[in-house]
Amino acid sequence: MSKHEIDRRAFLRGAAVTSALVMAARALPLAPLAAALDAERHLARVKVARNRVIRTVVGLRPYRSEGFVIEAERLGRKLLVHNYGHGGAGVTLSWGTSSLAVDLARDFVQTRPDRSANRRFAVLGCGVIGLSSARLLQQRFPGIVSIYAKNLPPDTTSNIAGALWYPTSSFDPEQVTAKFSEQFRVACQLSNRAFQGLVGPDYGVRWTDTLELIRNEASLERELFGGAQLYPQTEIHRDPKRYFGFPFTRQFSTMMIEPHVYLRALLRDFYIAGGKVVVKEFKNRQDIARLRESVIFNCTGLGSRALFDDQKLIPVRGQLEVLLPQPEVDYCYISGSGYMFPRRDGIILGGTFDHDDWSLQPDPQQTTAILEGHMEIMKQAGDQ
Ligand SMILES: Cc1cc2nc3c(=O)[nH]c(=O)nc-3n(C[C@H](O)[C@H](O)[C@H](O)COP(=O)(O)OP(=O)(O)OC[C@H]3O[C@@H](n4cnc5c(N)ncnc54)[C@H](O)[C@@H]3O)c2cc1C
Repeated sequence: MSKHEIDRRAFLRGAAVTSALVMAARALPLAPLAAALDAERHLARVKVARNRVIRTVVGLRPYRSEGFVIEAERLGRKLLVHNYGHGGAGVTLSWGTSSLAVDLARDFVQTRPDRSANRRFAVLGCGVIGLSSARLLQQRFPGIVSIYAKNLPPDTTSNIAGALWYPTSSFDPEQVTAKFSEQFRVACQLSNRAFQGLVGPDYGVRWTDTLELIRNEASLERELFGGAQLYPQTEIHRDPKRYFGFPFTRQFSTMMIEPHVYLRALLRDFYIAGGKVVVKEFKNRQDIARLRESVIFNCTGLGSRALFDDQKLIPVRGQLEVLLPQPEVDYCYISGSGYMFPRRDGIILGGTFDHDDWSLQPDPQQTTAILEGHMEIMKQAGDQ
């Protein structure tokens, strides 16, 4: 057994004992003891170094300042339901917006003469939105669901995502309507609940402590995206020594999703339930109208800009640096200068948000800026 493995086991044993003690203390009227034990929680240092970078990835977030589109329209005798434009929160919102979109087809489906299991649905797109929509269709209606897509996982934007359950960067609050805000709130709630049911290694979803590192006290006033009730165990810390030099830290629990594991699992579930996948690129509406299916879901992400001439849909380019995995890092952080998500396949360091930039090429200057930003944060780590 290697020294690393012995250290890791000792660490895990220690962590298990500490969490057992914390749970026991919480069960008894020993709140101060539980708080003291919680305070001992170790924030392992992220080893940010250029020679630990294992890959640099770039993706284009499908962003609309007015928010995502969930709408139904007629395409001749067919029904076309749109579900696209989720910006930097497509994974987070996927089950919620897909549930709302699938609801839009209910009347059409139920009033059609053909209610048999032969009814056919088409889903355009095989990213997280297409896969979630396809699975919900399989669960809610009898029939055959086919996914048509130019690219499949692992070659979708959804595979590039961080992906923390955190519905941020998906619209401009100044540009949205009250109707959209309500739709967003409902989508967050539905989606959060659905992800909770998928927690475990099979889907690559787990609960994680997240630290929002804050310099300006006024930021603490801001409600967490989608509603405070979605973030259990929220606590405010004013302890710069422990929290990387930041005067304020908002700690909360949310879910971490490993996109490669997760999307593979959704695709597997889709096949098991009888789904079919066709690799196909659509050039325009006429191409889509030629499909044999009478109910079609548009989940083409940024592809919707060209396909449906939605000029409000723009790319927000994001570059991530991925470091060698560090199993001992068991928390995420988000700060004004970037974020860190520890995944099984690497430590994700984000990130950039470049509006209307279509380049998929890694930018070496951004690599340097991302690494230096996180090195600066880790300079203040307590265990150096
Ligand atoms: C750097 C970065 C970090 C991110 N981090 C997070 C995060 O932490 N949390 C989070 O929730 N979200 C995150 N996101 C956002 C998330 O990745 C997107 O919102 C989400 O992937 C959008 O999913 P989608 O299914 O709509 O699009 P995609 O994954 O792009 O899928 C679109 C599908 O449509 C197909 N398609 C497109 N056009 C056509 C066409 N003409 N014909 C046929 N098929 C077509 C594509 O081939 C693909 O299969 C991040 C994104 C980036 C880039």
